[in-house]
Amino acid sequence: MPTLQDQSIAVVLGTRPEIIKLGHVIRLLGPAARVIHTGQHFDDDLSKIFFGAFGLVAPPVTIGVGGATRGTQIGRSVAELDARFAAERPVAVVVQGDTNSAVAGAIAANANDIPLVHVESGLRSHDRRMPEEHNRVIADHLADLCCAPTETNRANLHAEAISDDRIVVTGNTIVEALRALLPDPAARTALLTKHDLTPAGFVLGTFHRPENVDDPAVLETILEQLASLPVPVVLPLHPRTRIRISTHAKLAALAARLTVLEPLGYAEFLGLAAESAMLISDSGGVQEEASLLKRPVVVVRRSTERPEVLGTFAELIPPGPQISKQARAWLGDVAALHDRLATIASPYGDGTASQRTVDGIGALVDA
Ligand code: UDP
Repeated sequence: MPTLQDQSIAVVLGTRPEIIKLGHVIRLLGPAARVIHTGQHFDDDLSKIFFGAFGLVAPPVTIGVGGATRGTQIGRSVAELDARFAAERPVAVVVQGDTNSAVAGAIAANANDIPLVHVESGLRSHDRRMPEEHNRVIADHLADLCCAPTETNRANLHAEAISDDRIVVTGNTIVEALRALLPDPAARTALLTKHDLTPAGFVLGTFHRPENVDDPAVLETILEQLASLPVPVVLPLHPRTRIRISTHAKLAALAARLTVLEPLGYAEFLGLAAESAMLISDSGGVQEEASLLKRPVVVVRRSTERPEVLGTFAELIPPGPQISKQARAWLGDVAALHDRLATIASPYGDGTASQRTVDGIGALVDA
């Protein structure tokens, strides 16, 4: 009887959060994992160093779709993956989240009649303006196994007639990723010294969503809000955001009032997040991390697919003056706020999501 380790499981990914959230799944699959990198995020500091953080060797970028339009990224990736899957016939294909790489892996698996596993399934913002919403709906409906982080995600799948025979509730793999890489208190103190910061004395921000950074007027509003805060704001810049800022003098002047950094490695980002007063971000994963690190986060978006943390760890605020208003309110008594958040459990599970996912893959391919 062959074990899962003897099989070939294709893991398709292309961005920083996919590497973070699939790192442990890939490790558990061991020699069975055939990692295929589409190149959607091609910079080393969004890609290679994240494989290294999980003790994995970065695969070569096989498709190289970085920088192309969404349609081209999906189309070229499907074509390349289709040829690969037809030649190599993996017993299952694993995709994660809501990226163009995930949707391409899903379509190519389906076209080759190969069982598809969707990790982080069932998230819904119900906001059709977001391309990610369409990507996650497509991946979920094609998936033979939907790995839903929470019961809310399971209910979203039920509402779209995806039944329990295709669903397993796993928790979110971010829990084990964070636990593995969060620096210990001494290393965090060293990070504060390195960046000239004090415990709970700064805000950590991340921005990269097209609706926030592609329109200079929107990005200006966000940067103005950050620059108006009474504490230092640390902003590791996503390459997309850096390009936008570098081509507008007014944006560059606002950014000069912030502590702008290159994108950080995962451990360093987590260390600073754990020591921050709060986060201000448009990221999906940062909302989950806030609930694990017991830090509040202003989610600068019009909608979220992670409603589980709203009203406890997160407030949803579109670009505008409410951002700094909320941040100032939290800064007013930040120690009491942190103490209160420390008593609230994260909704994202117990750190066994990667193992549950691999068990689900085993059952699916009957190994
Ligand atoms: N992150 C990081 N370094 C940074 C900024 C973010 O390691 O400088 C991590 C962060 O902890 C989170 C993930 O990157 O887990 C979020 O990635 P991104 O915002 O690109 O994607 P999203 O979560 O919105 O899909």
